[in-house]
Amino acid sequence: MTVHFRQSNVSPQACPALVLNADYRPLSYYPLSLWGWQDAIKAVFLDRVNIVSEYDKTVKSPSFEIRLPSVVSLKAYVKPARQPAFTRFNVFLRDRFTCQYCGQRDDLTFDHVIPRSKGGATTWENVVAACSACNLRKGDRLPHEAHMLPAQPPFQPSVADLHRNGRLFPPNYLHESWLDYLYWDSVLEP
Ligand SMILES: [Zn+2]
Repeated sequence: MTVHFRQSNVSPQACPALVLNADYRPLSYYPLSLWGWQDAIKAVFLDRVNIVSEYDKTVKSPSFEIRLPSVVSLKAYVKPARQPAFTRFNVFLRDRFTCQYCGQRDDLTFDHVIPRSKGGATTWENVVAACSACNLRKGDRLPHEAHMLPAQPPFQPSVADLHRNGRLFPPNYLHESWLDYLYWDSVLEP
């Protein structure tokens, strides 16, 4: 379906919808599951979501007017991934965006604890966040040679681990209608 909207007074761009799973928990915490207003409205028309909460703002087409959803929930439950993807971003999130050698938060890089040149693999268990100064200082040495041990031994995190850390770094913008759904979760999770 193609719908061309005439925009009302306030820009709908500023109105993302929080996307909840069918169990009313956010589909993802970090990054927070948000859809642009066009995707949210499309999903409403395709009958894939319920509108849980709305903005005051409306968009109009020649045939109808609709308030922009601020929270939607999926009609079909999406089973959450059991294991998070191994990405640079998720490694930093596991390590709370902190250099595992000196604790600073700037200029983070991806460090192989056992260097690749010495057979170290690119896996959750062998990669940590390190600032570029520490990464350079450690160079091609093993941890005991460099006397540099990561603050926490690297591990495969669960989705819940990353959610927990993600909540330490909330996005800058949280609409008030989202808050009920964002903080329930901490009670429900083990
Ligand atoms: Zn460092």
